[in-house]
Amino acid sequence: MSPCRRLLSCLMLVVGLVSGASSRQALAAGFDITVLGARGGLEDGNLSAYMIHPIGDPRAILCDAGTVLHGLQVADQRGALDDTRLPADATETRPGFVLHHGIAAYLISHAHLDHVAGLVLVSPDDSAKSIYALPSVTTVLSRDLFNGAVWPNNGDIGTPPRLGLYHYQDLAAGQPVTLAHTGLRVTAFPLSHGSVESTAFLLQSGTDAMLYFGDTGADAVEHGTRLQAIWQAVAPLVRAHRLRGIVIECSYDDTRPDSQLWGHLSPRWLLRELTALQDAAHTPLRGMPVLVAHIKPSLRRDADPLSVIPAELREGNRDLGVNFIVPEQGMRLQWR
Ligand SMILES: [Zn+2]
Ligand SMILES: [Zn+2]
Repeated sequence: MSPCRRLLSCLMLVVGLVSGASSRQALAAGFDITVLGARGGLEDGNLSAYMIHPIGDPRAILCDAGTVLHGLQVADQRGALDDTRLPADATETRPGFVLHHGIAAYLISHAHLDHVAGLVLVSPDDSAKSIYALPSVTTVLSRDLFNGAVWPNNGDIGTPPRLGLYHYQDLAAGQPVTLAHTGLRVTAFPLSHGSVESTAFLLQSGTDAMLYFGDTGADAVEHGTRLQAIWQAVAPLVRAHRLRGIVIECSYDDTRPDSQLWGHLSPRWLLRELTALQDAAHTPLRGMPVLVAHIKPSLRRDADPLSVIPAELREGNRDLGVNFIVPEQGMRLQWR
């Protein structure tokens, strides 16, 4: 090839790479969310786990990992993974392929089992990933879970032998971090969850943002201001109409006394906190998608939380007018 032709082909390659990157950025607006696990506590097989990526950029992260492989299988059965094209030489099932190649990292809100059980169970056949979390969370994961006794130490710190499959990445509260191998940035905010520190993740893609909450109590019940601090931090995004939606828990119905909420929300407290966000932003939240996560099943015959909690939220939502959505396992949503 002549030097001139070589230069031309190099230039075309560069142009191709640049236009590929910019078209990916142009496509990446809003968030694509697949529910791998929708509920809190009691029942295994459907526990908090949300696979999230920018629309048009399939490189995903998993916010919490209560249920992983079973959630991917249900999502596949429901058609939520249909646009994942397996290479001709792929050896995995489609859920396996998404686990190995689609999910780039885990973001863990806290180490309660209903948020990490799926991660533990799938780890022997997982691909190498980073686990992003606040230091209080990575400490518990590495010391009390992946410690060679409860489960092999698949991490890169803690009790030897360390298998090093997972790379712990400590997040500093309030400081944005780019998530490697994805088009996402995350900012972690500490939450008060009874005696445990939990985490809210502000995910950002381009100018778009969404909030994912791990378990949390209301400020007034927890005697703190952690939710108020988040509302203040995201108020400019709400004012700019950049906050595309919120995933937040509502574990118990309103008959639950405050003294027995154990660091969780009930409908009246969730409504009160969303009103606090609206007040902080000085902007109506009307129409904002709010995914009602972590509803805890009940063993009582007389009141199904899956009907009682949405009804209580509807009743208190007349002024606020947010768009409450009760997630189901395998459901896929797009927020833009
Ligand atoms: Zn939980
Ligand atoms: Zn919890």
